Amino acid sequence: MTTTTTMPEWLKTMLIDQGRLSETGLTRRARIRTHKPCHLPTLAGYDADTCALDTWCDLAELTLAGEVHALLAGRTTYELTTERLYRRDRWTITGRPAGRMTPVFAEHRCHAPIPATWAVPPTPAPPAKPAHQEDATCPF
Ligand SMILES: [Zn+2]
Repeated sequence: MTTTTTMPEWLKTMLIDQGRLSETGLTRRARIRTHKPCHLPTLAGYDADTCALDTWCDLAELTLAGEVHALLAGRTTYELTTERLYRRDRWTITGRPAGRMTPVFAEHRCHAPIPATWAVPPTPAPPAKPAHQEDATCPF
């Protein structure tokens, strides 16, 4: 027996007609989705609770300087709070600086990823623990 995880077409049509789902399949809850025009993974969802727009963000989290560069490049920035994307404005940009209090992402542009210098560097992996030795003597 096979199971499918795709939404039935009748249900998708009904939810789109009711305004509960966009034609692109996005919802208020942001999720990692492939951007169809360029086939890159993005963080996607609605950008507000009402009068929302479909929003696609690059996956790299911005630093404070990275958000400034993104804004100067004309990209909108969004913060991710409780699995929802919110468009950043002058109050949120100054009140909750990127890279410190909340994860901030730049608007996605196909074939123009943000430079690595704008992004929070990846956290280094913890050092590997030595393998457990059965015959080892107790250190104390
Ligand atoms: Zn794209």
